[in-house]
Amino acid sequence: MNQHYNKLDWKNIVRTAISSHWTVKLKADCEEKSTLKLLSKRNLNIGQTHNVWDTISSSVKDVRKAATKVRMLTGTYMLQTLKVKFNQAEIDPTCPICKLEAEDLQHLLTSCLAYRHIRKSHFQQIKEYVVSKIGNSVWTINFNNKMAITELLIDCQAWLKGTFSQMTK
Ligand SMILES: [Zn+2]
Repeated sequence: MNQHYNKLDWKNIVRTAISSHWTVKLKADCEEKSTLKLLSKRNLNIGQTHNVWDTISSSVKDVRKAATKVRMLTGTYMLQTLKVKFNQAEIDPTCPICKLEAEDLQHLLTSCLAYRHIRKSHFQQIKEYVVSKIGNSVWTINFNNKMAITELLIDCQAWLKGTFSQMTK
């Protein structure tokens, strides 16, 4: 009450307070949703678009790709295991393409034999890039399972400097 803010400062103070209130609420809500387990909550802020949207061009092709990624990120991408949750009796969770495993995100992104060739070329590039930043041994320790790889592909913000397990000497 003793401080006299000008209109602009006051607007900024109010905006910051509102954003931080809803950011806290958003993050708390996200933690409760199992569908959002792959979404990194670290950089989730009200008033800021997610990196998926910030890193694309405005071309139709990029927007379509980003929409698919966002569906994967938010657990709304229609996979057989998700369909089963809604229609238990009639749906088979098995991957309709390779017919070998249940089709979930991990299967689609890391295991499905049908996408092996596409995956090989793209994944190698991603792996080489990450290895160039963190080194081979840190890669081996952190990405020795398919869930960690899935997490890296879906939202790499979960993996920031300082979050990697290091080799104990
Ligand atoms: Zn498959």
